[in-house]
Amino acid sequence: MTFDTCRQCGTCCRKGGPILHYEDMTLCENNILAIKHLITIREQEPVFSPLSTNIEPAPQELIKLSGVNGTWTCLFFQEDNRTCGIYHNRPLECRALKCWDTGELERIIYQQTLSRRDIIAPDNPIWPLLEWHNEHCRYSRLNDLARQKSGMENQITTIINNDLSVRQRALTMFSLNLAEELFYFGRPMFKALPARLAVRPDRRGSLTVYHKEV
Ligand code: SF4
Repeated sequence: MTFDTCRQCGTCCRKGGPILHYEDMTLCENNILAIKHLITIREQEPVFSPLSTNIEPAPQELIKLSGVNGTWTCLFFQEDNRTCGIYHNRPLECRALKCWDTGELERIIYQQTLSRRDIIAPDNPIWPLLEWHNEHCRYSRLNDLARQKSGMENQITTIINNDLSVRQRALTMFSLNLAEELFYFGRPMFKALPARLAVRPDRRGSLTVYHKEV
């Protein structure tokens, strides 16, 4: 059966909120979208691609609407009546997405997207921590190490503990809540490890990476 209109099944919104584009900046400026609604996807972070429908490294830093309850279901999706809580102000990708014809979405995907630099003021005192994080906790490096069959666990362990320690520092210095942490730093890097790697905590709260038994 074919169709050419939205049936409000909710599938698109459950797969994840949209990535934001320059055109969506007015939603941020008008406080329809606030930091608590946003999550940063860092460059090369493994993420669901609406083009391939696979998990792939993000080609550049992206800002996305957050999910709810540990899922990627868009936080504005209202499950009880399967509607959008900001329908008249929904971002560009939501307006472009037609599941029966993805051509419009394909034309804009990853084009003119927002990053943290568009949203965080240049004089915000959190920037030195974000710069340190970007330099010492790169997904490109983590992905390279994780692709090796074995022997890289110590280096991966260092990266994911650096990631945790800079977050802890920011939480202490700026009293961030969880939603703000996810915007400023993205999700913790140990959560993006490939399935064959796992972590265990030590008594001081640091993590150690190891290969799972197959
Ligand atoms: S903003 Fe609205 S239309 Fe877009 S994914 Fe979220 S709930 Fe769906």
